[in-house]
Amino acid sequence: MSNTPLTPGVQPGRLPAERYPAQFSDLHPVLDHHEALVAADRCYFCHDAPCMTACPTSIDVPLFIRQILTGTPEAAAKTIFEQNILGGMCARVCPTETLCEEVCVREVAEGKPVEIGRLQRYATDSLMAQGVHPFTRAEPTGKKVAVVGAGPAGLSAAHRLAMYGHEVTIYDARPKSGGLNEYGIASYKAPDGYAQKEVDWLMQIGGISVVNGKKLGEGLTLEGLKADYDAVFLAIGLAGVNALRAEGEDKDGVLDAVDFISELRQAEDLSKLPIGRNVVVIGGGMTAVDAAVQAKLLGAQNVSMVYRRSRARMSASEYEQDLATSKGVQIFYNAAPVAVYGNGSVAEVEFEYTSEEGGGLKGTGETFRLPADQVFKAIGQTLDGAPEGIEITGGKIAVDAMGRTSIVGVWAGGDCASGGEDLTVTAVAEGRDAARDIHAKLMEG
Ligand SMILES: Cc1cc2nc3c(=O)[nH]c(=O)nc-3n(C[C@H](O)[C@H](O)[C@H](O)COP(=O)(O)OP(=O)(O)OC[C@H]3O[C@@H](n4cnc5c(N)ncnc54)[C@H](O)[C@@H]3O)c2cc1C
Ligand code: SF4
Repeated sequence: MSNTPLTPGVQPGRLPAERYPAQFSDLHPVLDHHEALVAADRCYFCHDAPCMTACPTSIDVPLFIRQILTGTPEAAAKTIFEQNILGGMCARVCPTETLCEEVCVREVAEGKPVEIGRLQRYATDSLMAQGVHPFTRAEPTGKKVAVVGAGPAGLSAAHRLAMYGHEVTIYDARPKSGGLNEYGIASYKAPDGYAQKEVDWLMQIGGISVVNGKKLGEGLTLEGLKADYDAVFLAIGLAGVNALRAEGEDKDGVLDAVDFISELRQAEDLSKLPIGRNVVVIGGGMTAVDAAVQAKLLGAQNVSMVYRRSRARMSASEYEQDLATSKGVQIFYNAAPVAVYGNGSVAEVEFEYTSEEGGGLKGTGETFRLPADQVFKAIGQTLDGAPEGIEITGGKIAVDAMGRTSIVGVWAGGDCASGGEDLTVTAVAEGRDAARDIHAKLMEG
């Protein structure tokens, strides 16, 4: 049963039931063997490869592509997993067009990069399909580490710590592990329960136990964890949502985009998920695109995405914006919400055009209204539930280059920690690097 309040224009089953699976099928189906060889053959195997430098987890791209070309995709997968244990998910969700593929020399020279993301998926899927886990644990060290948060940062840290031989316990507030891989990523990027399959595969390393439904701040305290464990890694993501600051935003039908996506990701039957006829998404990032595209795929008639700055300032990449428009989403730039109208439930949203002056935003006084049965707020997530006394900077937990927080024995990484972009791959890199530092610290002397 959906949690979305039903208003007159918000109804389930806008499409014939048989259309939903096709609507939400894999955005980029996996390459077959022949296609993978053709794609791999385009690589120049560059010395000082720019693609490798652009990858936040520094995957040795030319090496893994060469391994595919020589007919050993399993070896290629191991090359990927050594740097990025969630290399399978990253192959599906990384904005490669602004990372490795943007700097690929073939993109620079010909405007067509080597398909690094799809090759990574080909390799990681090949190994995971065999159910093989390519790493083993070191001898037990007798040290215990608590990880709070089972998203990409927490899972990556836990896996690396387990490999070093430490005993890891992950605590997560949600009933399922995976963080936004399970509750946030657009369903057409990781269909068929991939997030849970990946978690199960990762756990094969051993030495990791997970306690779901346990929230830091509710019966679980940092003091308690510090007393019971040799080190603590915080990977709690950004669970809060910014306010719209528009009059009337408390009306029924005005929802957080992340909650809508989470409900969609957990829905067993998409034909039962209510969606508006007219949907307005406010924001300019990946979350906004994902909410808008999925609203359209559910059968909403008109979906508008409204961003307060120009196209060039949008954090969603050009590729993502084009994906949205190709699905029929209309994007408005330089417009900010002023008021939400409706009698109890939202009926219209009023926007004011903006102009950008010296980095600041100014309303032009010119307004327009969009009809809306549902409004999804996608204007950024905020830190929620950071332990008391921990240093915060720019709204995130302050960490140094090693991921150390202001509290001795406590590390943090991923979206909740300062520095780095809020991406799955960055969270994986930060979890891995903090684990290395925790290990070095625990083994001192
Ligand atoms: C809608 C959406 C779509 C996105 N799409 C993409 C994409 O396509 N590509 C991409 O690269 N990035 C994408 N991102 C960003 C990416 O998902 C995040 O950067 C990444 O998940 C961060 O990982 P994390 O481990 O830091 O946090 P999360 O994935 O948020 O995991 C945090 C975990 O901590 C748990 N938790 C929170 N508070 C507590 C507490 N107090 N006690 C215990 N547990 C707690 C949560 O339940 C959660 O499991 C998207 C984000 C959103 C919101
Ligand atoms: S930059 Fe492109 S061509 Fe060069 S190694 Fe990387 S993928 Fe291959």
